[in-house]
Amino acid sequence: MSISLMPLPYAADALAPAISADTIAVHHGKHHKAYVDKTNAAIDGGPQADAALEAIVASARTSDQALFNNAAQTWNHGFYWASLAPKPSAPAGELLAAIERAFGSTAELTEQLAARGAGHFASGWVWLAAKDGTLSIEETHDAETLVGTAANPLLVIDVWEHAYYLDRKNVRPDYLKAVLDNLINWQFAAENLARGTCWTYPG
Ligand code: MN
Repeated sequence: MSISLMPLPYAADALAPAISADTIAVHHGKHHKAYVDKTNAAIDGGPQADAALEAIVASARTSDQALFNNAAQTWNHGFYWASLAPKPSAPAGELLAAIERAFGSTAELTEQLAARGAGHFASGWVWLAAKDGTLSIEETHDAETLVGTAANPLLVIDVWEHAYYLDRKNVRPDYLKAVLDNLINWQFAAENLARGTCWTYPG
């Protein structure tokens, strides 16, 4: 058994024009796949060869930086694909109530996500997370991840340049606006909030 490349939950061209099929093809088929392949190469034949990805991330966090980077990036990308959806939706129910408690409104939350994403220096991830019942925006650098931390991730946006450079060149705010206006899978965020425990990478 090895870690698999999580299939996209939609067609590669389903997120266009916010994110082009070319970007998805490279991001999923090259970048994400490379993280999966490097993770598998590192665990092959070792004690973690059959371990779940979350266990590999937790173990490598304090013992093997290279494996941590590849395993965490494998997880982060699966969570990112699931955080996006071709059809716009809106937060409702418990998620909407939690957003209104923490941010006042969904519009204010998305404005803050856009600002944090635009302001994040260099590569990383911008997350909506829940901790002790309260929502917050979190940023992690490079491969750093919320899996295995006290914060339960609800959704994430990839702000590495490879997520937008083919479509937007260096203009990260345009990518963030397109994603936040059109592609956020609020249903996925609601499911993560309701479950109360961290999403698990499928395989
Ligand atoms: Mn990426």
